[in-house]
Amino acid sequence: MIKIHTVLCREGTMDNYAYILIDEATGTSAVLDPSETKPIIKKCEELGLKPAYILNTHHHFDHTEGNLELKEKYAAKVVGAAKDAHRIPGIDIMVEDKGSFDLGKSRAEIIAVPGHTTGHILWYFPESKAVFTGDMLFNLCIGGLFEGSPRQMWQSVLKIKSLPDDTLFYPGHEYTAQGASFAKYNLPNEPELDKYILIAQQKAAQGQPVCPLPLKLEKLCNPYLRARSEEEFLKLF
Ligand code: ZN
Ligand code: FE
Repeated sequence: MIKIHTVLCREGTMDNYAYILIDEATGTSAVLDPSETKPIIKKCEELGLKPAYILNTHHHFDHTEGNLELKEKYAAKVVGAAKDAHRIPGIDIMVEDKGSFDLGKSRAEIIAVPGHTTGHILWYFPESKAVFTGDMLFNLCIGGLFEGSPRQMWQSVLKIKSLPDDTLFYPGHEYTAQGASFAKYNLPNEPELDKYILIAQQKAAQGQPVCPLPLKLEKLCNPYLRARSEEEFLKLF
């Protein structure tokens, strides 16, 4: 099982989330998607941690810019998609689609989800019921298609939809407010969406991250996940 700490980075500009993951059995820890280093180092010091790994969902700078500094500071190993080996700074360990990575005794399954970028992966920890979605899935929205096509993204969305309902998801950015207006426009009469938006507003008012929420809610309220066919999905673009 992993314990997860959410760290807000690039606040006010891109509102990135980095995550600190700790394997409870061994104390082995990792930083996922360090877009900058300051708030992450501060949190690691608070927790008394020396992360052994840096995990990346994809190559974009706002997910990897902290790689090299953290790698040097903690003598950590950088783990990312083999497909992106040429563009992930400092990569040491390459993972493949349908492969796995052990953080101490916690196993992550690697799921390729091309669309936002061609090499984008999900980090899925089935035992901990947690999935880190980077810029593939945000609250009530999905990531922009920088390198892939909508058809490719639909295949990736199907993979997310196949994960258990009680999986909590951890996105790469705080984009719930934008996602909410998009979702409300597409699903004006979904009572669960109204509840979702209320929960999000309450969390935001308390200065808390909106994530994590269960995929069950996302499958119901996120128009991209709710689409029942490729045809319905493509209409959203
Ligand atoms: Zn990105
Ligand atoms: Fe991003």
